[in-house]
Amino acid sequence: MIIFKKNKDISGHLEALKKTGKSIAFVPTMGALHGGHLSLVQKARELADITVCSIFVNPTQFNDKEDFEKYPITIDADMAQLINAEVDLLFLPGVEEIYPENQPVVHYDLGALERILEGAFRPGHFQGVCQVVDRLLTITHPDFLVMGQKDFQQTMVIRKLLEITGRVTELITVPTLREPSGLAMSSRNARLSAAQSRHAEIIHAALVDAKAALAGHQNWSEVKADIATKLLGNGFEKYDYIELCKTSDLSTVETYNYRDSFIILLAAYIGNIRLIDNILL
Ligand code: AMP
Repeated sequence: MIIFKKNKDISGHLEALKKTGKSIAFVPTMGALHGGHLSLVQKARELADITVCSIFVNPTQFNDKEDFEKYPITIDADMAQLINAEVDLLFLPGVEEIYPENQPVVHYDLGALERILEGAFRPGHFQGVCQVVDRLLTITHPDFLVMGQKDFQQTMVIRKLLEITGRVTELITVPTLREPSGLAMSSRNARLSAAQSRHAEIIHAALVDAKAALAGHQNWSEVKADIATKLLGNGFEKYDYIELCKTSDLSTVETYNYRDSFIILLAAYIGNIRLIDNILL
């Protein structure tokens, strides 16, 4: 694995590879890597000749200072995992590489997508995500961009970004990898105590039950109340949202049917750690 810290070095290297006909798949991350990240790397390796991974804890996408300051950093372990997973290139930029002082801040017109769900509770988050992903794509120009369905709304935002910026990069999404307990793997799980981690298992169990209940024609308001009761009865202090949405545009609905494609999305706090998850119906 070759490690690059400078934009011009990695982009020069990738340009030379492309001239020899190699295809490129790119996996952006914020580090503190786990099996979920490695499943994206695995997908990238299947898709293209060269797998590029980046680790950059992007300050502009954190709306909560404490979340940013406490974001786990495990760079040595991350590099060992990426070497083991046979990643070809790792991009490890400093903040000044991604956000040089003289570079103007771009505003992306994401429409309603950035005002709902995560967007409503994390103001500015998706603008920050777009800023970093757009810059990383300008540096790497990949054929494929590989991202996780765990951040379902983020994948929709990035699809919109690709459309707005007219890039030819294809977005590939990968299903959420879970612990045997059902807990979605997440870098923030490292901040959970053993007891909190056991409590957090209720998220996936509640979503699986909700999916079955909707299939059994129970109405959404009851199903939603049931998810909320389970979370709040299992160590969660509050939730930001629990919504049933159309997968096409993430508009919220009150009634489930078999004709359309739906997803339940939620965000909830255990202690001061915010976890998100979803289930496709
Ligand atoms: P992050 O490092 O949290 O910014 O995540 C980097 C990428 O990994 C994003 O595309 C996430 O959606 C994806 N990801 C995070 N957790 C998982 C998981 N449990 N399974 C699959 N992909 C994941």
